[in-house]
Amino acid sequence: MSLNNPRVCINSPANKFVPSLHIEVAIVGAGASGLSCALHLQDRGIECAVFERDDTPCGSTALSSGFIPAPCTRTQTSLNIKDSVELFVSDLRSKSKGEGSALLEQAYASAIGPALDALEVSHGFDWEILDEFLYPGHSVHRMHALPARTGQALMARLMSRAQALGIPVLTRSLVNEIWMQDNKVIGVGITRVDGSVERYSCDALVLCCNGYGGNPDLIGQYIPEMKDAVFAGHIGNDGSAILWGEGLGAELADLGGYQGHGSWAVPHGILITWALMMQGAIQVNSLGKRFHNETTGYSEAAVEVLKQPGAVAWCIFDEEIFQKGCAFPDFQAATQLAAVRRFADAASLSDYIGCTQESIGDTLAQIQTDLKTNDGLDAHTGRTFNKAISAPYYAVKVTGALFHTQGGLSVNDQARVLMKNGHALENLFAAGGAARGVSGNAVWGYLSGNGLLSAFAGAYIAACSIKASRN
Ligand SMILES: Cc1cc2nc3c(=O)[nH]c(=O)nc-3n(C[C@H](O)[C@H](O)[C@H](O)COP(=O)(O)OP(=O)(O)OC[C@H]3O[C@@H](n4cnc5c(N)ncnc54)[C@H](O)[C@@H]3O)c2cc1C
Repeated sequence: MSLNNPRVCINSPANKFVPSLHIEVAIVGAGASGLSCALHLQDRGIECAVFERDDTPCGSTALSSGFIPAPCTRTQTSLNIKDSVELFVSDLRSKSKGEGSALLEQAYASAIGPALDALEVSHGFDWEILDEFLYPGHSVHRMHALPARTGQALMARLMSRAQALGIPVLTRSLVNEIWMQDNKVIGVGITRVDGSVERYSCDALVLCCNGYGGNPDLIGQYIPEMKDAVFAGHIGNDGSAILWGEGLGAELADLGGYQGHGSWAVPHGILITWALMMQGAIQVNSLGKRFHNETTGYSEAAVEVLKQPGAVAWCIFDEEIFQKGCAFPDFQAATQLAAVRRFADAASLSDYIGCTQESIGDTLAQIQTDLKTNDGLDAHTGRTFNKAISAPYYAVKVTGALFHTQGGLSVNDQARVLMKNGHALENLFAAGGAARGVSGNAVWGYLSGNGLLSAFAGAYIAACSIKASRN
Protein backbone atom coordinates (compact mmCIF):
# COMPACT_ATOMS: atom_id res chain seq x y z
CA MET A 1 0.00 0.00 0.00
CA SER A 2 1.11 3.52 -0.73
CA LEU A 3 2.76 5.57 1.94
CA ASN A 4 0.39 7.24 4.35
CA ASN A 5 1.00 10.96 4.46
CA PRO A 6 -2.14 12.56 5.86
CA ARG A 7 -2.23 16.25 5.13
CA VAL A 8 -4.64 19.16 5.08
CA CYS A 9 -4.76 21.12 1.81
CA ILE A 10 -6.29 24.58 1.53
CA ASN A 11 -8.03 25.38 -1.74
CA SER A 12 -6.53 28.52 -3.28
CA PRO A 13 -5.70 29.86 -6.75
CA ALA A 14 -2.16 28.62 -6.24
CA ASN A 15 -3.26 25.20 -4.99
CA LYS A 16 -6.51 24.48 -6.68
CA PHE A 17 -8.80 21.60 -5.73
CA VAL A 18 -9.90 19.83 -8.91
CA PRO A 19 -12.28 16.96 -8.10
CA SER A 20 -13.19 14.29 -10.60
CA LEU A 21 -16.49 13.40 -8.91
CA HIS A 22 -18.89 14.57 -6.18
CA ILE A 23 -20.06 12.40 -3.28
CA GLU A 24 -22.65 13.55 -0.76
CA VAL A 25 -20.84 12.03 2.21
CA ALA A 26 -17.31 10.64 2.11
CA ILE A 27 -16.34 8.17 4.83
CA VAL A 28 -12.72 7.26 5.57
CA GLY A 29 -12.31 3.67 6.79
CA ALA A 30 -14.44 0.55 6.35
CA GLY A 31 -14.56 -0.84 9.89
CA ALA A 32 -17.48 -0.93 12.31
CA SER A 33 -17.85 2.84 12.44
CA GLY A 34 -17.43 3.52 8.71
CA LEU A 35 -19.72 0.75 7.50
CA SER A 36 -22.42 1.25 10.13
CA CYS A 37 -22.39 4.99 9.41
CA ALA A 38 -22.90 4.18 5.72
CA LEU A 39 -25.90 1.96 6.56
CA HIS A 40 -27.48 4.63 8.78
CA LEU A 41 -26.98 7.24 6.05
CA GLN A 42 -28.55 4.91 3.52
CA ASP A 43 -31.54 4.47 5.87
CA ARG A 44 -31.91 8.27 5.72
CA GLY A 45 -31.73 8.47 1.95
CA ILE A 46 -28.24 9.99 1.92
CA GLU A 47 -25.64 8.78 -0.59
CA CYS A 48 -22.15 8.04 0.59
CA ALA A 49 -18.95 6.28 -0.40
CA VAL A 50 -16.54 4.53 1.95
CA PHE A 51 -12.79 4.76 1.21
CA GLU A 52 -10.70 1.93 2.60
CA ARG A 53 -6.94 1.59 2.30
CA ASP A 54 -6.88 -2.24 2.40
CA ASP A 55 -7.71 -4.74 -0.35
CA THR A 56 -10.26 -6.39 1.89
CA PRO A 57 -11.92 -4.39 4.65
CA CYS A 58 -10.98 -5.82 8.02
CA GLY A 59 -9.85 -3.13 10.43
CA SER A 60 -9.57 -3.80 14.13
CA THR A 61 -13.26 -4.68 14.00
CA ALA A 62 -12.58 -8.03 12.30
CA LEU A 63 -9.84 -8.76 14.84
CA SER A 64 -12.12 -8.00 17.77
CA SER A 65 -14.47 -10.28 19.67
CA GLY A 66 -17.34 -8.19 18.35
CA PHE A 67 -18.93 -7.50 21.76
CA ILE A 68 -20.88 -4.24 22.08
CA PRO A 69 -22.40 -2.89 25.33
CA ALA A 70 -25.78 -1.19 25.01
CA PRO A 71 -28.68 -0.47 27.40
CA CYS A 72 -32.38 -0.79 26.60
CA THR A 73 -32.15 -2.40 23.18
CA ARG A 74 -35.00 -4.47 21.83
CA THR A 75 -32.92 -7.59 22.55
CA GLN A 76 -32.13 -6.62 26.13
CA THR A 77 -35.72 -5.59 26.82
CA SER A 78 -37.05 -8.87 25.40
CA LEU A 79 -34.97 -10.67 28.04
CA ASN A 80 -36.45 -8.50 30.82
CA ILE A 81 -33.03 -7.17 31.80
CA LYS A 82 -33.52 -3.96 33.75
CA ASP A 83 -31.12 -1.33 32.47
CA SER A 84 -31.09 2.38 31.68
CA VAL A 85 -28.96 4.96 29.94
CA GLU A 86 -28.30 6.47 33.40
CA LEU A 87 -27.01 3.17 34.79
CA PHE A 88 -24.72 2.71 31.79
CA VAL A 89 -23.40 6.27 32.17
CA SER A 90 -22.79 5.59 35.85
CA ASP A 91 -20.80 2.42 34.98
CA LEU A 92 -18.76 4.36 32.40
CA ARG A 93 -18.04 7.10 34.94
CA SER A 94 -17.09 4.66 37.69
CA LYS A 95 -14.60 2.93 35.42
CA SER A 96 -12.99 6.15 34.21
CA LYS A 97 -13.14 7.59 37.76
CA GLY A 98 -14.97 10.58 36.33
CA GLU A 99 -12.13 11.39 33.92
CA GLY A 100 -13.91 10.47 30.69
CA SER A 101 -15.79 13.08 28.68
CA ALA A 102 -19.17 13.43 30.45
CA LEU A 103 -20.71 14.84 27.26
CA LEU A 104 -19.69 11.84 25.17
CA GLU A 105 -20.57 9.30 27.86
CA GLN A 106 -24.12 10.63 27.83
CA ALA A 107 -24.22 10.90 24.03
CA TYR A 108 -22.84 7.41 23.37
CA ALA A 109 -24.85 5.70 26.11
CA SER A 110 -28.01 7.30 24.67
CA ALA A 111 -27.21 6.52 21.02
CA ILE A 112 -25.91 2.97 21.20
CA GLY A 113 -29.31 1.35 21.87
CA PRO A 114 -31.02 3.04 18.89
CA ALA A 115 -27.93 2.31 16.74
CA LEU A 116 -28.05 -1.44 17.43
CA ASP A 117 -31.85 -1.53 17.13
CA ALA A 118 -31.65 0.18 13.72
CA LEU A 119 -29.15 -2.43 12.53
CA GLU A 120 -31.50 -5.14 13.77
CA VAL A 121 -34.72 -3.73 12.34
CA SER A 122 -33.44 -2.36 9.02
CA HIS A 123 -30.57 -4.73 8.36
CA GLY A 124 -31.37 -7.98 10.16
CA PHE A 125 -28.58 -8.01 12.73
CA ASP A 126 -29.74 -10.77 15.11
CA TRP A 127 -28.15 -9.57 18.32
CA GLU A 128 -27.77 -11.80 21.34
CA ILE A 129 -26.88 -10.80 24.90
CA LEU A 130 -23.88 -12.49 26.49
CA ASP A 131 -25.38 -13.37 29.85
CA GLU A 132 -23.14 -16.15 31.13
CA PHE A 133 -21.25 -13.68 33.32
CA LEU A 134 -20.97 -9.95 33.99
CA TYR A 135 -18.22 -8.16 32.10
CA PRO A 136 -15.93 -6.23 34.47
CA GLY A 137 -17.46 -2.91 35.43
CA HIS A 138 -20.94 -3.54 33.97
CA SER A 139 -23.83 -3.63 36.45
CA VAL A 140 -26.10 -5.73 34.23
CA HIS A 141 -25.94 -8.00 31.19
CA ARG A 142 -25.76 -5.59 28.28
CA MET A 143 -23.00 -7.00 26.06
CA HIS A 144 -24.40 -7.65 22.57
CA ALA A 145 -22.92 -9.90 19.89
CA LEU A 146 -24.00 -11.69 16.74
CA PRO A 147 -24.57 -15.43 17.29
CA ALA A 148 -21.10 -16.30 15.89
CA ARG A 149 -19.50 -14.12 18.63
CA THR A 150 -16.61 -12.91 16.47
CA GLY A 151 -15.50 -9.61 15.01
CA GLN A 152 -15.10 -11.37 11.67
CA ALA A 153 -18.78 -12.23 11.62
CA LEU A 154 -19.63 -8.64 12.53
CA MET A 155 -17.49 -7.27 9.68
CA ALA A 156 -18.90 -9.84 7.25
CA ARG A 157 -22.45 -8.78 8.15
CA LEU A 158 -21.67 -5.07 7.77
CA MET A 159 -19.97 -5.63 4.42
CA SER A 160 -22.69 -7.87 3.04
CA ARG A 161 -25.35 -5.27 3.92
CA ALA A 162 -23.31 -2.48 2.31
CA GLN A 163 -22.88 -4.59 -0.82
CA ALA A 164 -26.54 -5.61 -0.93
CA LEU A 165 -27.55 -1.95 -0.79
CA GLY A 166 -25.05 -0.92 -3.43
CA ILE A 167 -23.06 1.35 -1.12
CA PRO A 168 -19.67 1.94 -2.79
CA VAL A 169 -16.85 0.64 -0.59
CA LEU A 170 -13.75 1.68 -2.52
CA THR A 171 -10.85 -0.49 -1.43
CA ARG A 172 -7.13 0.14 -2.06
CA SER A 173 -8.02 3.78 -1.54
CA LEU A 174 -5.74 5.44 0.97
CA VAL A 175 -7.12 8.83 1.90
CA ASN A 176 -4.17 11.20 2.27
CA GLU A 177 -5.68 14.63 1.70
CA ILE A 178 -8.48 16.58 3.31
CA TRP A 179 -9.29 19.71 1.30
CA MET A 180 -10.60 22.74 3.18
CA GLN A 181 -11.99 26.13 2.27
CA ASP A 182 -13.34 28.73 4.71
CA ASN A 183 -13.27 26.25 7.61
CA LYS A 184 -15.34 23.71 5.66
CA VAL A 185 -14.31 20.40 4.17
CA ILE A 186 -14.72 20.52 0.40
CA GLY A 187 -13.26 17.14 -0.50
CA VAL A 188 -10.68 14.41 -0.13
CA GLY A 189 -7.70 13.12 -2.07
CA ILE A 190 -7.15 9.39 -2.46
CA THR A 191 -3.89 7.69 -3.33
CA ARG A 192 -4.29 4.42 -5.22
CA VAL A 193 -1.82 1.52 -5.04
CA ASP A 194 -0.11 2.61 -8.25
CA GLY A 195 0.51 6.04 -6.71
CA SER A 196 -2.15 7.83 -8.75
CA VAL A 197 -4.22 10.44 -6.93
CA GLU A 198 -7.98 10.94 -7.30
CA ARG A 199 -9.91 13.81 -5.77
CA TYR A 200 -13.57 13.81 -4.75
CA SER A 201 -15.64 16.73 -3.55
CA CYS A 202 -18.14 16.05 -0.76
CA ASP A 203 -20.79 17.79 1.34
CA ALA A 204 -19.60 16.12 4.54
CA LEU A 205 -16.70 13.95 5.63
CA VAL A 206 -16.79 11.31 8.38
CA LEU A 207 -13.44 10.09 9.72
CA CYS A 208 -13.78 6.43 10.74
CA CYS A 209 -10.11 5.51 10.36
CA ASN A 210 -9.56 4.48 14.01
CA GLY A 211 -6.58 5.56 16.11
CA TYR A 212 -2.80 5.33 16.08
CA GLY A 213 -2.02 1.90 17.53
CA GLY A 214 -0.29 1.03 14.24
CA ASN A 215 2.07 4.02 14.46
CA PRO A 216 5.01 3.15 16.76
CA ASP A 217 6.28 6.75 16.82
CA LEU A 218 2.95 8.08 18.05
CA ILE A 219 2.67 5.26 20.61
CA GLY A 220 6.16 6.12 21.88
CA GLN A 221 5.11 9.76 22.14
CA TYR A 222 1.70 9.38 23.78
CA ILE A 223 1.67 5.93 25.41
CA PRO A 224 5.33 5.20 26.24
CA GLU A 225 4.37 2.40 28.68
CA MET A 226 3.17 0.32 25.68
CA LYS A 227 5.89 1.18 23.19
CA ASP A 228 7.44 -2.31 23.37
CA ALA A 229 4.17 -4.18 23.79
CA VAL A 230 2.57 -6.33 21.11
CA PHE A 231 0.02 -4.35 19.07
CA ALA A 232 -2.86 -6.74 18.42
CA GLY A 233 -4.97 -4.30 16.41
CA HIS A 234 -5.00 -3.40 12.73
CA ILE A 235 -1.65 -1.98 11.61
CA GLY A 236 -3.32 0.18 8.96
CA ASN A 237 -4.65 2.34 11.81
CA ASP A 238 -1.57 4.51 11.83
CA GLY A 239 -2.92 7.81 13.08
CA SER A 240 -4.42 9.55 10.03
CA ALA A 241 -7.12 11.19 12.15
CA ILE A 242 -4.83 12.79 14.69
CA LEU A 243 -2.32 13.85 12.04
CA TRP A 244 -5.13 15.59 10.13
CA GLY A 245 -6.29 17.02 13.45
CA GLU A 246 -2.87 18.56 14.01
CA GLY A 247 -2.93 20.00 10.49
CA LEU A 248 -6.38 21.48 11.04
CA GLY A 249 -5.69 22.97 14.46
CA ALA A 250 -8.32 20.65 15.91
CA GLU A 251 -8.41 19.73 19.58
CA LEU A 252 -7.00 16.31 20.46
CA ALA A 253 -7.95 14.67 23.75
CA ASP A 254 -7.20 11.69 25.98
CA LEU A 255 -4.20 10.63 23.90
CA GLY A 256 -2.91 8.57 26.84
CA GLY A 257 -6.08 6.46 26.88
CA TYR A 258 -6.11 3.00 25.34
CA GLN A 259 -7.44 -0.52 25.52
CA GLY A 260 -4.86 -2.97 26.69
CA HIS A 261 -5.45 -6.65 27.28
CA GLY A 262 -3.77 -8.80 29.90
CA SER A 263 -4.41 -12.10 28.21
CA TRP A 264 -2.76 -12.34 24.81
CA ALA A 265 -1.50 -15.93 24.34
CA VAL A 266 2.17 -16.23 23.48
CA PRO A 267 3.65 -17.22 21.17
CA HIS A 268 0.32 -18.01 19.45
CA GLY A 269 -0.89 -14.40 19.28
CA ILE A 270 -4.53 -15.04 20.14
CA LEU A 271 -6.93 -13.47 22.60
CA ILE A 272 -7.81 -15.53 25.66
CA THR A 273 -11.22 -14.39 26.81
CA TRP A 274 -11.35 -12.53 30.10
CA ALA A 275 -14.54 -14.48 30.80
CA LEU A 276 -12.22 -17.02 32.40
CA MET A 277 -11.11 -14.52 35.05
CA MET A 278 -14.66 -13.46 35.79
CA GLN A 279 -15.57 -17.13 36.33
CA GLY A 280 -12.77 -17.75 38.85
CA ALA A 281 -9.48 -18.11 36.92
CA ILE A 282 -6.32 -16.43 38.21
CA GLN A 283 -3.10 -15.07 36.74
CA VAL A 284 0.29 -16.02 38.20
CA ASN A 285 3.79 -14.93 37.30
CA SER A 286 6.85 -17.12 36.71
CA LEU A 287 7.22 -17.43 40.49
CA GLY A 288 3.75 -18.96 40.70
CA LYS A 289 2.39 -15.88 42.54
CA ARG A 290 -0.72 -13.81 41.86
CA PHE A 291 -0.02 -10.11 41.40
CA HIS A 292 -3.31 -8.23 40.92
CA ASN A 293 -7.08 -8.27 41.22
CA GLU A 294 -7.96 -9.97 37.94
CA THR A 295 -11.60 -8.84 38.08
CA THR A 296 -10.82 -5.11 37.93
CA GLY A 297 -10.55 -5.09 34.14
CA TYR A 298 -8.66 -6.68 31.27
CA SER A 299 -7.34 -3.37 29.98
CA GLU A 300 -5.24 -2.37 32.99
CA ALA A 301 -4.29 -6.04 33.42
CA ALA A 302 -2.02 -5.57 30.37
CA VAL A 303 0.20 -3.23 32.36
CA GLU A 304 0.24 -5.53 35.39
CA VAL A 305 1.30 -8.50 33.24
CA LEU A 306 4.00 -6.47 31.49
CA LYS A 307 5.49 -5.59 34.91
CA GLN A 308 6.10 -9.29 35.71
CA PRO A 309 9.40 -11.09 35.05
CA GLY A 310 9.76 -11.67 31.30
CA ALA A 311 6.57 -9.60 30.76
CA VAL A 312 4.53 -12.80 30.86
CA ALA A 313 1.98 -14.51 33.09
CA TRP A 314 -0.03 -17.73 33.13
CA CYS A 315 -3.82 -17.85 33.28
CA ILE A 316 -4.75 -20.79 35.52
CA PHE A 317 -8.19 -22.40 35.71
CA ASP A 318 -9.98 -25.71 36.12
CA GLU A 319 -12.28 -27.99 34.15
CA GLU A 320 -15.47 -26.07 35.02
CA ILE A 321 -13.99 -22.77 33.83
CA PHE A 322 -12.44 -24.44 30.77
CA GLN A 323 -15.89 -25.69 29.71
CA LYS A 324 -17.34 -22.17 30.09
CA GLY A 325 -14.50 -20.73 28.00
CA CYS A 326 -15.40 -23.13 25.20
CA ALA A 327 -18.49 -20.97 24.52
CA PHE A 328 -16.13 -18.46 22.86
CA PRO A 329 -14.76 -19.13 19.36
CA ASP A 330 -11.44 -17.39 20.17
CA PHE A 331 -10.94 -19.75 23.08
CA GLN A 332 -11.79 -22.79 20.98
CA ALA A 333 -9.20 -21.64 18.45
CA ALA A 334 -6.62 -21.17 21.22
CA THR A 335 -7.34 -24.69 22.46
CA GLN A 336 -6.92 -26.12 18.96
CA LEU A 337 -3.58 -24.30 18.65
CA ALA A 338 -2.47 -25.93 21.93
CA ALA A 339 -2.15 -22.54 23.64
CA VAL A 340 -4.38 -23.98 26.38
CA ARG A 341 -2.56 -26.77 28.24
CA ARG A 342 -4.01 -29.34 30.68
CA PHE A 343 -2.18 -30.66 33.77
CA ALA A 344 -3.21 -33.48 36.04
CA ASP A 345 -1.70 -31.99 39.19
CA ALA A 346 0.19 -29.07 40.72
CA ALA A 347 3.54 -30.78 40.09
CA SER A 348 3.15 -30.85 36.29
CA LEU A 349 1.59 -27.36 36.32
CA SER A 350 4.61 -25.96 38.20
CA ASP A 351 6.98 -27.67 35.72
CA TYR A 352 5.21 -25.88 32.87
CA ILE A 353 5.36 -22.50 34.58
CA GLY A 354 8.91 -23.04 35.78
CA CYS A 355 8.10 -22.27 39.43
CA THR A 356 8.26 -24.50 42.47
CA GLN A 357 5.39 -26.83 43.23
CA GLU A 358 5.21 -25.33 46.70
CA SER A 359 4.73 -21.84 45.31
CA ILE A 360 1.81 -22.64 42.97
CA GLY A 361 0.41 -24.96 45.65
CA ASP A 362 0.40 -22.08 48.17
CA THR A 363 -1.26 -19.75 45.66
CA LEU A 364 -4.09 -22.21 45.01
CA ALA A 365 -4.44 -23.09 48.72
CA GLN A 366 -4.71 -19.40 49.64
CA ILE A 367 -7.95 -19.15 47.62
CA GLN A 368 -9.41 -22.02 49.65
CA THR A 369 -8.32 -20.32 52.88
CA ASP A 370 -9.90 -17.04 51.77
CA LEU A 371 -13.14 -18.87 50.96
CA LYS A 372 -13.18 -20.54 54.38
CA THR A 373 -12.12 -17.64 56.56
CA ASN A 374 -12.80 -14.38 54.75
CA ASP A 375 -15.91 -14.89 52.56
CA GLY A 376 -13.56 -15.37 49.62
CA LEU A 377 -11.90 -11.95 50.02
CA ASP A 378 -8.20 -11.88 49.20
CA ALA A 379 -6.88 -9.09 51.42
CA HIS A 380 -3.77 -8.52 49.26
CA THR A 381 -5.49 -7.71 45.96
CA GLY A 382 -9.05 -7.00 47.06
CA ARG A 383 -10.47 -9.73 44.84
CA THR A 384 -13.40 -11.77 46.13
CA PHE A 385 -13.40 -15.41 45.06
CA ASN A 386 -16.55 -17.49 44.65
CA LYS A 387 -14.80 -20.77 44.03
CA ALA A 388 -11.52 -22.58 44.42
CA ILE A 389 -9.50 -23.97 41.48
CA SER A 390 -9.12 -27.74 41.61
CA ALA A 391 -7.23 -30.34 39.56
CA PRO A 392 -6.99 -31.04 36.70
CA TYR A 393 -5.57 -27.62 35.96
CA TYR A 394 -5.42 -25.64 32.73
CA ALA A 395 -2.81 -22.99 31.92
CA VAL A 396 -2.20 -20.49 29.11
CA LYS A 397 0.98 -18.42 28.84
CA VAL A 398 0.09 -14.80 28.05
CA THR A 399 1.50 -11.32 27.76
CA GLY A 400 -0.02 -7.83 27.91
CA ALA A 401 -0.94 -6.30 24.55
CA LEU A 402 -2.13 -2.98 23.16
CA PHE A 403 -5.49 -3.45 21.40
CA HIS A 404 -6.38 0.06 20.32
CA THR A 405 -5.95 3.69 21.29
CA GLN A 406 -8.81 5.60 22.90
CA GLY A 407 -7.58 9.17 22.39
CA GLY A 408 -8.30 11.16 19.27
CA LEU A 409 -10.12 14.12 17.81
CA SER A 410 -12.33 15.99 20.23
CA VAL A 411 -15.92 15.86 19.05
CA ASN A 412 -19.13 17.36 20.37
CA ASP A 413 -22.32 15.40 21.05
CA GLN A 414 -23.17 15.64 17.33
CA ALA A 415 -19.87 13.91 16.42
CA ARG A 416 -18.58 17.17 14.89
CA VAL A 417 -14.84 17.74 15.17
CA LEU A 418 -13.91 20.56 17.55
CA MET A 419 -11.18 23.09 16.91
CA LYS A 420 -8.79 24.18 19.66
CA ASN A 421 -10.91 27.32 20.15
CA GLY A 422 -13.98 25.15 20.83
CA HIS A 423 -15.60 25.92 17.48
CA ALA A 424 -17.25 22.86 15.88
CA LEU A 425 -16.49 22.26 12.22
CA GLU A 426 -19.78 22.19 10.37
CA ASN A 427 -19.21 19.26 8.03
CA LEU A 428 -16.32 17.27 9.53
CA PHE A 429 -17.30 14.35 11.75
CA ALA A 430 -15.30 11.67 13.56
CA ALA A 431 -16.47 8.34 14.99
CA GLY A 432 -14.98 5.21 16.51
CA GLY A 433 -11.28 5.21 17.28
CA ALA A 434 -10.68 8.35 15.21
CA ALA A 435 -12.45 10.36 17.91
CA ARG A 436 -11.73 10.72 21.58
CA GLY A 437 -13.39 7.85 23.44
CA VAL A 438 -15.04 7.62 26.85
CA SER A 439 -12.19 6.06 28.81
CA GLY A 440 -10.32 9.13 30.00
CA ASN A 441 -6.60 9.49 29.60
CA ALA A 442 -5.28 6.18 31.00
CA VAL A 443 -5.51 2.44 30.51
CA TRP A 444 -7.64 1.82 33.61
CA GLY A 445 -10.52 3.98 32.34
CA TYR A 446 -11.49 1.48 29.64
CA LEU A 447 -14.81 -0.20 30.41
CA SER A 448 -15.29 -3.49 28.53
CA GLY A 449 -16.66 -2.73 25.08
CA ASN A 450 -15.81 0.99 24.98
CA GLY A 451 -14.15 0.47 21.57
CA LEU A 452 -17.16 -0.76 19.64
CA LEU A 453 -19.41 1.47 21.75
CA SER A 454 -17.63 4.53 20.30
CA ALA A 455 -17.65 3.00 16.82
CA PHE A 456 -21.35 2.18 16.60
CA ALA A 457 -22.68 5.07 18.71
CA GLY A 458 -20.40 7.68 17.10
CA ALA A 459 -21.33 6.48 13.61
CA TYR A 460 -25.04 6.63 14.39
CA ILE A 461 -24.74 10.14 15.84
CA ALA A 462 -22.75 11.33 12.80
CA ALA A 463 -25.40 9.97 10.41
CA CYS A 464 -28.22 11.62 12.41
CA SER A 465 -26.32 14.94 12.52
CA ILE A 466 -25.72 14.87 8.76
CA LYS A 467 -29.41 14.18 8.17
CA ALA A 468 -30.43 17.00 10.57
CA SER A 469 -28.13 19.48 8.85
CA ARG A 470 -29.94 18.87 5.56
CA ASN A 471 -33.47 19.48 6.87
C1 LIG B 1 -8.06 -8.46 19.59
C2 LIG B 1 -9.05 -7.33 19.79
C3 LIG B 1 -10.28 -7.62 20.41
C4 LIG B 1 -11.21 -6.56 20.60
N1 LIG B 1 -12.44 -6.87 21.12
C5 LIG B 1 -13.33 -5.86 21.30
C6 LIG B 1 -14.66 -6.13 21.78
O1 LIG B 1 -15.07 -7.29 21.94
N2 LIG B 1 -15.46 -5.07 22.04
C7 LIG B 1 -15.08 -3.79 21.80
O2 LIG B 1 -15.85 -2.86 22.07
N3 LIG B 1 -13.88 -3.51 21.27
C8 LIG B 1 -13.01 -4.51 21.00
N4 LIG B 1 -11.80 -4.22 20.43
C9 LIG B 1 -11.59 -2.83 19.94
C10 LIG B 1 -12.36 -2.66 18.62
O3 LIG B 1 -11.89 -3.61 17.70
C11 LIG B 1 -12.16 -1.24 18.04
O4 LIG B 1 -12.42 -0.28 19.01
C12 LIG B 1 -13.14 -1.03 16.87
O5 LIG B 1 -13.03 -2.08 15.94
C13 LIG B 1 -12.88 0.32 16.20
O6 LIG B 1 -13.70 0.41 15.06
P1 LIG B 1 -13.35 1.50 13.95
O7 LIG B 1 -14.40 1.40 12.92
O8 LIG B 1 -13.13 2.80 14.63
O9 LIG B 1 -11.92 1.05 13.39
P2 LIG B 1 -11.46 -0.17 12.45
O10 LIG B 1 -12.37 -1.33 12.54
O11 LIG B 1 -10.03 -0.41 12.77
O12 LIG B 1 -11.58 0.43 11.00
C14 LIG B 1 -10.76 1.50 10.56
C15 LIG B 1 -10.48 1.31 9.09
O13 LIG B 1 -9.89 2.52 8.57
C16 LIG B 1 -8.93 2.16 7.60
N5 LIG B 1 -8.03 3.31 7.44
C17 LIG B 1 -7.19 3.85 8.35
N6 LIG B 1 -6.58 4.94 7.85
C18 LIG B 1 -7.05 5.10 6.59
C19 LIG B 1 -6.82 6.06 5.57
N7 LIG B 1 -5.99 7.09 5.74
N8 LIG B 1 -7.46 5.90 4.38
C20 LIG B 1 -8.32 4.87 4.17
N9 LIG B 1 -8.58 3.94 5.12
C21 LIG B 1 -7.97 4.06 6.32
C22 LIG B 1 -8.28 0.92 8.17
O14 LIG B 1 -7.62 0.17 7.18
C23 LIG B 1 -9.48 0.20 8.80
O15 LIG B 1 -10.04 -0.73 7.91
C24 LIG B 1 -10.88 -5.24 20.21
C25 LIG B 1 -9.65 -4.97 19.60
C26 LIG B 1 -8.75 -6.01 19.37
C27 LIG B 1 -7.46 -5.70 18.69
